[in-house]
Amino acid sequence: MKKAHTTILLAVFTMLISCKHKENAIETKTSDSASNFGIVIHGGAGTILKEKMTDSLEIAYAQKLEEAIKIGHEILKNGGTAMEAVTKTINVMEDSPLFNAGKGAVFTHEETNELDASVMDGSNLNAGAVAGVTHIKNPIDLAVEVMDHSEHVMLAGEGAENFAVTRGIALVDPSYFYTENRFNSLQRIKSKEKMELDHDGKTAVSNSSAYDSFIKDSKFGTVGCAALDKNGNLAAGTSTGGMTNKRWNRIGDAPIIGAGTYANNATCAVSSTGWGEYFIRGMVAHDISAMMEYKGVSLEEAAREVIQKKIPALGGDGGIVAIDKDGNVTMEFNTAGMYRAHMNAAGELVVGIYKNIN
Ligand code: ASP
Repeated sequence: MKKAHTTILLAVFTMLISCKHKENAIETKTSDSASNFGIVIHGGAGTILKEKMTDSLEIAYAQKLEEAIKIGHEILKNGGTAMEAVTKTINVMEDSPLFNAGKGAVFTHEETNELDASVMDGSNLNAGAVAGVTHIKNPIDLAVEVMDHSEHVMLAGEGAENFAVTRGIALVDPSYFYTENRFNSLQRIKSKEKMELDHDGKTAVSNSSAYDSFIKDSKFGTVGCAALDKNGNLAAGTSTGGMTNKRWNRIGDAPIIGAGTYANNATCAVSSTGWGEYFIRGMVAHDISAMMEYKGVSLEEAAREVIQKKIPALGGDGGIVAIDKDGNVTMEFNTAGMYRAHMNAAGELVVGIYKNIN
């Protein structure tokens, strides 16, 4: 009985990802009316290989992506704002232990969880971000508070949490973020690091290829969303626990406006996921928007240039999801996989995990 259930779910999932073939048609479609809207999400990019995945986990990811995107799609369909769709969609993924954001965030070297998030409103270029918070259940909500109710764009650590209290945002005990899976990942990375140290007597950081592989295996599941609403407004948001084994209050690209998140009604809305240090140096999200603004290239072309050429040339990896002012969508990545989904105004759904879907 259980097996039959799994088979049916798998068939549904296969059907969903086969909708990918429609993607080009969706991507090139532009709309003329106020009824145009759309939403695109990611749940992180990385070494996501089919052979390392169980059927049940694959289904769990596909279902959660679908649940999340449908929340945002419904908001947009009912005339809600792109910003509301982005935050409510991200909340679903933050609350799921499957993703490296909110519940399920990765562990730092000190076995704590430090969360980063940002949002940007393309209608007025307002933005809000938080970094290194340890007691905020839904960091994306605090990023919105920073944008709407402070004179600042970015708050960090304890100060950000004091601000959260003034805004009535409830704090949670840090144990809320614990998941066995993420904790075990930290232990695995630490023992690998120790082996390296024992082996050559140097720090792992100085052995760049070993360190690269630690890093490549230590990031999965940042979440992000970009949306276009019926009023033609764009918004984007990104939320993450960062990278496993991070230390020294390391902050990645996710809370950096222009790197992890960017939105501008004149161009597009973008959310990034990947090796944050490279995405900061590449100013990935803004770079895509700038190419559209200053060179007049399409969203698809701009995203491909940045993700397939600029970031790999620097040595980094990852991906983005983005939507432009006409509702064209792109989900570009240079890793083995990226959890992703897209829904257009017609309600057509695309869900994907791996690079090659067949
Ligand atoms: N970009 C995130 C960071 O560097 C990690 C990720 O997207 O997986 O913190």
